Amino acid sequence: MSRLPVMSASKRVLTSTSSSGSENGQDLAPAQKRVRKDPESVKPQAAATIIGGKRPAVAATRAPLSKPVRGMGAATVAVGPSRGVMKPSMASTAAKGGNTKQPVASTGTKAGGGAAPRRHAWDLKGKVSDMEGKLRNYQTKVKSVNQENEVLKDSMTQSRTRVGQMEKELVKQRNQISEYEEELTTLSGVRDELEKVSSDKSTLQKELSNLEGKYKVMETLRDSQETELQTLKMKLSVQESTLARVQATLRDTEEEVRGLKETVAQQEDELHAGEMERRRLHNTIQELKGNIRVFCRVRPLVDGGLSKHLQLPASDNKMITLAKTEESHTGKTADTQKNYNFSFDRVFGPQASQHEVFEEISLLVQSALDGYNVCCFAYGQTGSGKTYTMEGDEFDETRGVIPRAVKQIFKAAEKLAAQGWEFTFTASFVEIYNESLRDLLYTGKANKRPEHEIRKSANNEVTITNLTYEKVSNEDQVLGLINLANQNRSTAQTAQNDRSSRSHSVFQLDIEGVNSGRDVKCKSTLCLVDLAGSERMMKSQSQGERFKEMTAINTSLTNLGIVIAALANKESHVPYRNSKLTYLLQACLGGNSKTLMFVNIAPETDSLGETLNSLRFASKVNACVIGTASANRKLS
Ligand code: ADP
Ligand code: MG
Repeated sequence: MSRLPVMSASKRVLTSTSSSGSENGQDLAPAQKRVRKDPESVKPQAAATIIGGKRPAVAATRAPLSKPVRGMGAATVAVGPSRGVMKPSMASTAAKGGNTKQPVASTGTKAGGGAAPRRHAWDLKGKVSDMEGKLRNYQTKVKSVNQENEVLKDSMTQSRTRVGQMEKELVKQRNQISEYEEELTTLSGVRDELEKVSSDKSTLQKELSNLEGKYKVMETLRDSQETELQTLKMKLSVQESTLARVQATLRDTEEEVRGLKETVAQQEDELHAGEMERRRLHNTIQELKGNIRVFCRVRPLVDGGLSKHLQLPASDNKMITLAKTEESHTGKTADTQKNYNFSFDRVFGPQASQHEVFEEISLLVQSALDGYNVCCFAYGQTGSGKTYTMEGDEFDETRGVIPRAVKQIFKAAEKLAAQGWEFTFTASFVEIYNESLRDLLYTGKANKRPEHEIRKSANNEVTITNLTYEKVSNEDQVLGLINLANQNRSTAQTAQNDRSSRSHSVFQLDIEGVNSGRDVKCKSTLCLVDLAGSERMMKSQSQGERFKEMTAINTSLTNLGIVIAALANKESHVPYRNSKLTYLLQACLGGNSKTLMFVNIAPETDSLGETLNSLRFASKVNACVIGTASANRKLS
């Protein structure tokens, strides 16, 4: 850029030079022509010619020769700088275009270097004029050189100005360059950034394409889900309509259920009232039948059948006749037969099954569940079937009163549960031997058996200290307890002493029922007692331990009879305390309690005496009941 003005300046110089040169050229050409035509006349022009001769060399290189050359003065000034300056150019010209300008150069050389016609030595005037001519020539030359110098100075000034400008411009440019460099640095930073951005972009693009792929998958998924949604919506609407229908049905049903619930509640009330009424009526019947009842049961003979001395009329199941043949004391009269008639609430012959026997007392068992205390005794001589009646054998058919009663109670409790009753049952098994108590459910060490005492609480509840009270809820548990009791009894007896027949065993089941919905409670005890053998021994036969046993048994059995009689006669004083048995059972014997006594009879002839005793004892009890006060309460 900066070069351009310089070029133009030199051009201008050259142009002016060439123009002057051309003018000079124009002048020159005729002068050269003139020289050739008239060498003499152009002598003084020789220098000009020489100069001109030099010019074409410049002109040849700098300007086209075709241009006409005008007046030589200006041309000489313009073209010919100082010699020194021009010399190289001349030399180069000579070297380069020596051939073309040769004729002119040779002409010039001739003019300057003595090419003019040689003067004779004498022609001083001529020589002087030549010299003057030369001088003029040089003067002209000097003038033109000076002019040229001026021009060059101008040009130089211009150039300097230009250089100044250019320097300024250079500084400006440099500044600009530094600016550009800064910009470049910035841009390179930008480029780095750009690269980063582009790499980011490519990453993002990849990610984008990834995401696009995913998006497509999602779209497909969405489409499928939308389809599914549509299906579900349809299903939902179907379900909703179904639901609405079902809800309507439900409302109807609820309405119906409400109605039914009301009916049920009403019926439950009625049922409860019915149950209470049943209890009342049942109790009335039991009371009418007698709160104290006596049943007689005759054991079969070992080989079956019935012994002759015992007669049970087929038409009446309440009668028993004992026929006793009495030998004549003198031996002169015939033996007399005496019949002893006894009447009881019920007489069971040897064929009576356990089931039949139980049926009669099951009503009393029901009373126990209704909240009345029930006591059932088995009285009779050893081997008469007391244990068989109370406990029975292990088979279902031959099970006795205890397991059957318990079974009935559990069953009935289950039924009552539907009416809101909840029952708890606690069993205990105690033996009274020689007026002392023994826990038959004891499972501890034999030498650590605790002592027992009968305690009576303020509300007339009787408990035994240190006794095992076992919670039971099914028949099997009770059977297990019976087994345990039998084991405990057998360990106590010896070969000579059949202890089980010399002791009373008392099974007690405490029953507690709660109907929390109706705020009703009931509490009762079912006592099933297997009494000690009632047989009497000849006093002479009994000694020591046996005598003691016998006395204890007699006392307690007699006392039992007395207590029952006192109760039946509603006597003010009932001697419960006279024996452990009555003291223990006092809660189950008085008041609204139901008492049942089994009189067990052995059919063997040799047991006749004992049978008579037993029947008399039972009859006494029964007579008390039939007697005055209770007569109207008995259902015969
Ligand atoms: P106790 O307990 O009064 O001493 P048991 O109940 O032990 O008498 O009876 C003695 C025997 O007679 C036992 O073998 C028993 O099985 C049997 N026995 C008692 N009563 C009957 C009966 N009603 N039917 C069949 N066998 C009986
Ligand atoms: Mg027995």
